[in-house]
Amino acid sequence: MRKGWVYLLAVLAATAGAQSYPARSVSLVVPFTAGGPTDVLGRTLAAAMGKSFGQTIIVENRTGAGGTIGTAYVARAAPDGYTFLLQHTGMATAPALYRKLSYDPLKDFEYVGQVVDVPMTLVARKDFPPKTPEALLDYLTAQKENINLANSGPGAVSHLCAMLLQQALGVQMTTISYQGTAPALAALMGGHVDVLCDQTTQTIPHIKSQRIKLYASATRKRIAALPDTPTLDELGLKGFEVMVWHGVYAPKGTPKEALGKFGAALRAALKDPMVKTRLKELGVQWVPEAMQTPAGLRDWLAAEIARWTPIIKKAGVYAE
Ligand code: ASP
Repeated sequence: MRKGWVYLLAVLAATAGAQSYPARSVSLVVPFTAGGPTDVLGRTLAAAMGKSFGQTIIVENRTGAGGTIGTAYVARAAPDGYTFLLQHTGMATAPALYRKLSYDPLKDFEYVGQVVDVPMTLVARKDFPPKTPEALLDYLTAQKENINLANSGPGAVSHLCAMLLQQALGVQMTTISYQGTAPALAALMGGHVDVLCDQTTQTIPHIKSQRIKLYASATRKRIAALPDTPTLDELGLKGFEVMVWHGVYAPKGTPKEALGKFGAALRAALKDPMVKTRLKELGVQWVPEAMQTPAGLRDWLAAEIARWTPIIKKAGVYAE
């Protein structure tokens, strides 16, 4: 009898050891606060991916330093297929923005695929004085450092958009940094800061409920979900555009099987009609399927690093 038990346990142990991937829940690190644009995108995808992935995907918020803390965490995590990262354009801007960056986006990661694009909007506290979008830019230029401009930390896309806005206007406003859009938006709604440039996934619901004021979109063409809103380009800032792209990464050395299965679940989630309906209402735009692949993401990232580095160097902005 005792021998039988020993045999059974040995068989169970061997089966567990040989159990195919994924054998337990997987963590998807979001390097910004819960309730922000990157987090909402991560949670929407994680819930949909769970259907085909066979295990729960847990979103883990590791915040700070404009997303670089969470990104560095994933670069150093065990490459066992149980840690992934959802990061945005900040993956391409951090190498130029940070004097010291503990990871190399092109060397320290495996690539799963690109996700979606999210446009940016320029919003302000409800009682911000300019009455029309046309009056906004003159007001910002005249008030300069009296304007409190919020962002989610150096390296965040809100920071990037704010940096380009100040550069285009030729003025320096007062920067107030948060660890994500959720606290930055709360400060805007509370009237503690004046202006914020951030993704539509978070601004559209608050614009609709009239808790913040929408002035412009930071896209070349008007945003489909906000057809009556002028672009900054139309208001006079020619060529102004900050479109936020997203990618999913894993630590360097993550097994191919894990990358393949996680990637397949990601692409399935991007086809999920519920995901599409929910995100499209929030202004989200789909990228071609060829970009939703490891090579699509890696090539895009390399091109984006090459695009942003001279722009950031010219702006002379650095983070420690
Ligand atoms: N929207 C933020 C940024 O500016 C990040 C976030 O909270 O998702 O990068």
